[in-house]
Amino acid sequence: MMGQMMDQPLLVSSIIRHADRHFGDIEIVSRRVEGDIHRYTYAECHARARRMANALKAQGVQMGERVATLAWNGYRHLELYYAISGSGAVLHTVNPRLHPDQVAYIVNHAEDQLLFFDLSFLPLVTQIAPRCKTVRAFVLMCDRAAMPAQTGIANLLCYEDLIDANDDNYDWPEFDERSACSLCYTSGTTGDPKGVLYSHRSTLLHSYASALPDALGVSGRDAVLPVVPMFHVNAWGLPYSAPLVGAKLVFPGPAFDGRSLYELMEAEKVTFSAGVPTVWRSLLNHVNEHGLIFTSFERAIVGGAACPPAMIEAFRDRYKIEVVHAWGMTEMSPLGTTGTLQRRHFALSPEEQMAVLVKQGHAPFGVDMKVVDDAGEELPWDGKSPGRLLVKGPWVIDSYFKGEGGNVLEDGWFPTGDVATIDADGYMQITDRSKDVIKSGGEWIGSIDIENIAMAHPAVEQAACIGVFHPKWDERPLLVVVPRRDQQIDKVELLRFYEGKIAKWWTPDDVAVVDALPLGATGKVLKNEIRAQFRDYRLP
Ligand code: ADP
Repeated sequence: MMGQMMDQPLLVSSIIRHADRHFGDIEIVSRRVEGDIHRYTYAECHARARRMANALKAQGVQMGERVATLAWNGYRHLELYYAISGSGAVLHTVNPRLHPDQVAYIVNHAEDQLLFFDLSFLPLVTQIAPRCKTVRAFVLMCDRAAMPAQTGIANLLCYEDLIDANDDNYDWPEFDERSACSLCYTSGTTGDPKGVLYSHRSTLLHSYASALPDALGVSGRDAVLPVVPMFHVNAWGLPYSAPLVGAKLVFPGPAFDGRSLYELMEAEKVTFSAGVPTVWRSLLNHVNEHGLIFTSFERAIVGGAACPPAMIEAFRDRYKIEVVHAWGMTEMSPLGTTGTLQRRHFALSPEEQMAVLVKQGHAPFGVDMKVVDDAGEELPWDGKSPGRLLVKGPWVIDSYFKGEGGNVLEDGWFPTGDVATIDADGYMQITDRSKDVIKSGGEWIGSIDIENIAMAHPAVEQAACIGVFHPKWDERPLLVVVPRRDQQIDKVELLRFYEGKIAKWWTPDDVAVVDALPLGATGKVLKNEIRAQFRDYRLP
């Protein structure tokens, strides 16, 4: 017997329509590429998204065709999120920090029909345009007055001209909720980037789940500032979950430095923000150096890379800001786990709570996970048996765009490429990425633990631990550190700092001091580059 409830497809357009009808006067504030602040409401955003949907139709964009964006976090990008996906086309967010050759590769691979871009990316687009074979027109996301006179780009259109030339008389079409809605390529640190094709259904379910209080906890009481870029796994879904609950949205545009972020957060009374650890480090440094305080900021989501305990402590103890450690990946839309505390943890001491908070956390309903050994056998949830982490769920990838890489699942589970433990309470902790694991005498050493300890040392700004060749043990850990400004690293004293904190044989054999660590297109430390740099390193 079938249920007798309305069969209404879960479509992305329904989010912006809901935000307009129920939270029409809630603000969206954007720092623009031009430097000024733009503000309007969900109602106005919805109207302009409908105008843009008409413009896409006029440009001949068909259902399922890909439309690319090279853009920062801002209101026009948000309009495109809804105009493109809502009209049945596929929003393809391209990471502008990738090498131009990779950008061109991705645009061609996706067969993008139109390419929208911010003024900052004019040099990049000018360079790659002749190679983008399928792109019929390039659209500069600015008004007529800001359009450059000469660009050399054939078929260059102006965003605001398209908005002006169309009205908002547009009905969002209804179609199968399993239709593709957006496309995001993995950053491709090894091999060519591969496309992850999200559906309307997966995006809606992910938006619901990620907004839950024990997940990211996004609510209508919040003013949300996504620092994580809208070209990096859809800004972790915040452009969907914020309008879904009627939260105010604040977009930082291209200004990610500590000072710009702090000023915008204070001016717009931001309560909630999300980003990778490197961004938070620069914000905390700015606030520390200038003796500032936060007057509205309540919750920071830290993800994309392991959050050092020292960062959780700095936010919590100095500024009374709750840090939620989140783990996920492009292939998971991206939310996999969050490290929020549960009732059972309330009675614990701050130190015991910290041991929970540093873990990547528990899975929301919709994500299942397990750790397995090399033979694929599931390992116990004892918090100490590391294994390969596998996941499944309705917002987890089934196969890459165009079938790249063939069948990527293992018995219906997606192998994440991470090595992790899961404890008896269901809290998962990443010890490493499998390709970064250090194998000493046949045993794994978890580099994240080693890095976290180093980053708690007062002289250390950043740390990365890699395996380097050792004649007896095959590999031993080398700690690579960036000192804090005006600080000297005393290697012997730094290594002594590990005493009693980890197993003795995990202690790095040596410390190398560098000026900076190489960062990838999503702001993460590139371990493969560090390994290449230290390939011929001889341990003492
Ligand atoms: P890429 O694979 O190109 O880095 P993703 O942004 O999808 O792109 O990165 C996913 C990976 O990032 C995860 O598999 C994991 O290794 C790492 N990661 C994400 N969040 C965390 C976290 N909180 N702690 C440790 N590692 C994390």
